[in-house]
Amino acid sequence: MNRRVNSVDLSGRVAVVTGGAQGIGLAVARRLLSSGASVAIWDVDETAMAKAVSELAPLGRVEGLLCDQSLMEAVDSAATETERSLGPVDLLVNNAGIAGPAAAVADYDPAAWRQIIDIDLNGVFYCCKRLVPGMIARSYGRIVNIASVAGKEGNPNAAAYSAAKAGVLALTKSLGKELAGHDIAVNALTPSPARTRILEQLTEAQVAYMLGKVPRGRFVEVEEAAAMIAFMLSDENSFTTGATFDLSGGRATY
Ligand code: NAD
Repeated sequence: MNRRVNSVDLSGRVAVVTGGAQGIGLAVARRLLSSGASVAIWDVDETAMAKAVSELAPLGRVEGLLCDQSLMEAVDSAATETERSLGPVDLLVNNAGIAGPAAAVADYDPAAWRQIIDIDLNGVFYCCKRLVPGMIARSYGRIVNIASVAGKEGNPNAAAYSAAKAGVLALTKSLGKELAGHDIAVNALTPSPARTRILEQLTEAQVAYMLGKVPRGRFVEVEEAAAMIAFMLSDENSFTTGATFDLSGGRATY
C-alpha cells in the first residue's frame, strides 16, 4: 500500500527496542532511526540482531545487545551498556515476546506457562524497573508496552500468552498513574495478528481463528504498528498515559 508517511521528530532521543532483531521491533527500530533517534536493540537472537544492525546502520546510530529480558541481571547489564554507549534512555519499547505452545489450560505445561510469563510479563517489568528511575531523574520519558488483542479478549489455547498480555495492560495502567506527575507517558498497544515469525509458534487453526475476528480482514502491517508507536513515543504524546492504543483492525471496540 502506498501511504504518505508523517514526520515524527525524535532527534536527540535515545531509544531501547527489546526484541528489535525482527518483526514489529525491527520495523519500530527502522522508524525511530529515520525519525532521528539513536536505537539500542536488545534481543536473544544473535544472528537476526547482527543482520538487523547492519541493515539499519545507514539510517543512524544503532547498536545490538544480547539480552534475555526474562533475567533482571541481563536487563541491568544491557541498560548499563546502552547508557554508556548511547547515553540516558528516553524511550523504551517493550516489544520482545513469545507466543508459546498452543494447548488447552488442562494440558498446558507449567514450565512453558512460566517461561511465557517470565518473558512476556516479567521482562517488561524488569525493563521498566531498570530504566524508569533515569526517566524520573530527567523528568522525561515515553514507554510503549506491546501487548496484544489477546490480552483484551483472551484467545483459546493461548491462556498463558493472553494472561501475560493482560498483565502488561495492568502494569501499564499502574505505572502510567505512578509517573503521571512527570512528563513521562506509559502506554500499551494491542495489535491483532501481524505476519511475523511469532506466528510460526501457533497452529494454522489459531491464526485463522484470530484473523477471522478482524473486521479489516487482513494482517496488520509492521509499518502500521511502527507508525502508531512513533507517535506514542513523541513529545506530542504528552497527555495520554496508562492507556491502551488499539491496533486490532476493529476487533476490539474498547
Ligand atoms: P517476532 O518473533 O518476529 O519478534 C520477537 C522478538 O523478540 C524476536 O527477535 C525474539 O528473538 C525476541 N525475543 C524473544 N524472547 C526474548 C527474550 N527473552 N529477551 C529478549 N528478546 C526476546 O514477533 P513479533 O510479531 O515481531 O512480536 C513483537 C511483539 O508483538 C511481541 O510482544 C508479540 O507478542 C506482539 N504481538 C505480535 C502479534 C503478531 O501477530 N505478530 C500480534 C500482537 C502482538
